[in-house]
Formats: sequence, structure tokens, C-alpha cells
Amino acid sequence: MFDRRHFLAAASATTLLPSVGFAKGALAAEKADVVIIGGGLSGLNSAMMLGELGYKVVVLEAGPIVGGRVKTLDTIEGKLDVGASQIGRGYARVLDACMKLGLQLIPEDRDLLPFGFHYKGQWVDPKSWADNPLNQTVGDERRISPMLMGQAVTAKWNPCKELSDWLDPKLADQDISLRQLMVQKGYSPAAIELASYSAPGIGIDETSMLRMWQEETRSIADRRFGTTAGGTGEAGKREHPFGEANDHNAINGLASINNIVGGCQQLPFAMAAKLGDVVRLNKRVGRIAMSDKGASVTCLDGSTYQARFVISSLPFTMLRDVEITGAANPKARDAIAHMPYANTARLYLSVEKPFWKADGLPASFSTDGPIGMFWGIDNHTGEGKHRAMVVMVGKMAQAIAQRENAVPFILSEIEAMRPASKGLMKVVAYKDWARDPLQKGCGFSLAPGQVNAFGRDFVKPWQVLHFAGEHTRRSDFGMESAMESSERVVLEIAERG
Ligand SMILES: Cc1cc2nc3c(=O)[nH]c(=O)nc-3n(C[C@H](O)[C@H](O)[C@H](O)COP(=O)(O)OP(=O)(O)OC[C@H]3O[C@@H](n4cnc5c(N)ncnc54)[C@H](O)[C@@H]3O)c2cc1C
Repeated sequence: MFDRRHFLAAASATTLLPSVGFAKGALAAEKADVVIIGGGLSGLNSAMMLGELGYKVVVLEAGPIVGGRVKTLDTIEGKLDVGASQIGRGYARVLDACMKLGLQLIPEDRDLLPFGFHYKGQWVDPKSWADNPLNQTVGDERRISPMLMGQAVTAKWNPCKELSDWLDPKLADQDISLRQLMVQKGYSPAAIELASYSAPGIGIDETSMLRMWQEETRSIADRRFGTTAGGTGEAGKREHPFGEANDHNAINGLASINNIVGGCQQLPFAMAAKLGDVVRLNKRVGRIAMSDKGASVTCLDGSTYQARFVISSLPFTMLRDVEITGAANPKARDAIAHMPYANTARLYLSVEKPFWKADGLPASFSTDGPIGMFWGIDNHTGEGKHRAMVVMVGKMAQAIAQRENAVPFILSEIEAMRPASKGLMKVVAYKDWARDPLQKGCGFSLAPGQVNAFGRDFVKPWQVLHFAGEHTRRSDFGMESAMESSERVVLEIAERG
């Protein structure tokens, strides 16, 4: 229904139109069957499949290299994936692409050392948490690890059995926040407070449970392949969701979690190499003008491309900066303008000496303070040099993105909690995805109420404009969702001829 709320959303979308400046001077338009905007996995995979079906395609990528959120940096410690890196056994499409393109996989070696919790200024041992006086939760809640409350509640009440259940209108009344769910289910205020530190998505009030259950249901499917980021089986995943005791054993040649040799960006690089000169770099799209018969796509450098169909694979944080003209489509405009994006910021460190041996505290820890999680990463010998990562997600990642000089601030926070770490850590890299000008976030979210408002429909074609990208997933997650979305748009276009 096109109600007043949607009308206002659509109107505000128009006023949000970009302040983009186009280069002067008209260039002759290049013609293609399909213009694909964005050279991340979903855009490149769409181009490869359409090319195989005989369509003439052009891929317009704003950046100087392809890959988007698959990004491998060259650092003093060698290649480092600061975006996607983990490939599970259930990643059928990504594994297939790696095989076809001749990429080699290795078992992930990011094994985390044991966790503690720094809460209300004190160190908490998760093993004795049930009896800790800081634990104000009640009944069965008392046994839930304090840093896993949000995940535990999300997993416990997941009503989805099939991968697409999250979109089923029969669950429309579950398009609510984690806080609303916990209040409904009678959790104590202390449990709700703890859940706010580990709420999946953006935060305890900001993300729809249906969005989180989509991810949770897909993870359960992956675990059926024996894929866990924390030891074997459901219990391992629950207790160690971030990757303590990774299972490196191969089943059919694949470990539980795999990485690409040379870095994950080898995958989009190999795809682009296969596509050849149809991939155009440094082409930032600023305008899409469409009718029922075709579209004209204009880049900020003034170049124009005409096509029968357009695929946008841009995250909506970026598409909302593109001027789109065409028939009215309030649901798509609402989604483009208002879909929230989560952030992830990570500080990658090398640890000269394992300072946790000096202070006797757990190597890895979560905190209710501003730095989120510190992951001590095992070097597999127990001595000498280790790696570490500070991982900020949710509200903490949003807050850090607002701060200048984030790196010295993070280091000083760690030193305040762990004086033994002083001078023993070297910065290898820092990546804040909200500050990436071609991303402005790490992944899509849906606020409570948005699955009902537009989540089921916004992926439908808008005249000749089709939507790909992880944010248009229906059933998959991570890189697989980008690949899934490209299969859907290619079928949509193929059906139209
Ligand atoms: C920190 C982090 C860790 C992750 N870890 C994992 C993991 O371990 N495993 C996993 O499976 N997944 C992981 N993911 C998710 C995975 O990276 C994404 O789901 C996937 O790469 C998204 O691909 P995409 O094609 O949808 O979008 P993107 O990769 O974002 O592609 C969009 C492209 O559009 C370009 N663009 C933007 N604006 C314009 C414009 N105006 N004109 C032209 N081009 C433009 C961008 O430069 C970008 O290349 C992770 C993501 C992040 C951020």
C-alpha cells in the first residue's frame, strides 16, 4: 500500500538526491545490452553469467580496483584481508567460482585464544559468571555467558526453519527489535542490558529480529556441513562464536573455514581478468535515467552508457547518491533512502610478546567499553610473536567512525585495561568500513518494521533497473549472498529476453 509514511519516504528520497558534479562536455554514448553498476562480487558474477548467455555487458566500477568489500591489503606482515575472508563448506557458489578460476584454498589459521570479559571496570571469568556478584540476571539467564547474551537469545527464539522463512508474512508480527523480543519473553532488565553489548546487527533497538534470524538460519545450514568458527558442533559455535579452536580437519578436501591463497581479493581479480575490457574502472555512476524500454547511465566523468537493462549492485548507502529518474516506485525509493547499514571497524596488530602471560588475564576479551572485542590470535606455538585484532561492531563501530585519531585512542584504551600490553603491539592496518567513501558501511540492515514496509518487495525490477548485491539476498549470507543475488537478476533479465 502506498500510504502517507511511504509517500513521505519517497519525497525525502528525492530531496536526498546527490550533490554530484558531472564533468562538462558530452561524450558519445556507448551501447550495451546490460550496464552493471559496481564491480564487487555480485556485479562481476552477473557480468560473467550474462556474458555466457550472449549479452553484451559493461561493468562500471567507481574505484581503481574491483572487489568492493572483498579487499586484501599489502601490509608489513604480508597479505591481509580486511573485508571478506572466510569461506565455509556450504559456500557452493564461491567454491565453484574458485575452482573454475583456478584459485587455491587453505584452511583458515585465525585461531583465537580464550576469552574473558571486562565489565563495569572488572575482569570477569566466563566460567564462574553464574556466581559472580556482578551478575544481576535471574534464573537460567545466569548461566549464559555475559558476552553472548544477544546471540543466545537470538538463537533461542528463532522461528525460521527454511532459509526464506524470514520473509514469510506469517512472521510479520516478529518484525521487532531484540529489546522488544526480550521484554515479550520476560527477560530481566540485567539480561537486556547485557544483550545490548552483544546484540547482532546494529544494536538492541535498531535491527529487526527477522533480519537477524535470516543470518542465524543460514548459519545453521552451514553448520550442517560441519562448518563452525568455534570448534565442532552446535555447542562449540555457541560457546566460541568467533573462532576459538577452529576445526582444521578436511572433509572432501575442505577445512571448516577456508581462505584464498594470496588473499580473498584474488577472486574478484580473477573474475575481472576473465571478463576483460568490459570492466571499466574509475567510473563512478551519478545518474540513471530510465523508461520502460531502456536506460541511460551517466558517470561523473561525463561518459554515458545506454542499455536495455541496468543492474545496480551498489549498497544503498551509495545508490542513494545516484540520481534516478523513471516511473514512480515508492517502495524502492523508501528502501534506497532508509535502509540502515551496520559498520565494522578493525585494528590489526602484531603482538611482539604475549603480554597475557605477564598479566595472567585471558588473551582475548570482550568489553562493555568503547573498543568492543580484542582477539588474541594463536601463533600455534604458544610463544613468541602473535597477531591480534580489535573488532568493533554495532554501536561501538558507529561511535568509533565519528572519532578522529581512532587508532591511538583504541591503543590507549587497551593499555588502560592491560598495562602489560604497553609497547608490545605494532599497528599493521586499520579499516573502518563506514569511512570507506565507496561503501559507507559494512553490510545492510533492516530496522524493526522495515521487513514489513519494503523488505519483501524492494528487490523487484524497477522498470529496466534490476537490483543485485548482498543487501538483496533472499536466503544466503556473506559472499554467497552477493553471488545468490546475481543469479536472481540474471534470471530476471533472461526471462525478459
Ligand atoms: C569487514 C567485513 C568482513 C566480511 N567477512 C566476510 C567473510 O569472512 N565471509 C563472507 O562470506 N563474507 C564476508 N563479508 C561480506 C562480503 O564481503 C559481502 O557480502 C560481499 O563482498 C558484498 O558484495 P557486493 O557485490 O554485494 O557489494 P560490494 O562488494 O560492496 O560491491 C559494490 C561495488 O560498487 C562500487 N561502487 C560504489 N558506488 C559506486 C558508484 N556510484 N558507481 C560505480 N560503482 C560504485 C564499490 O566500489 C564496490 O566495488 C564481510 C564484509 C565485511 C565488510
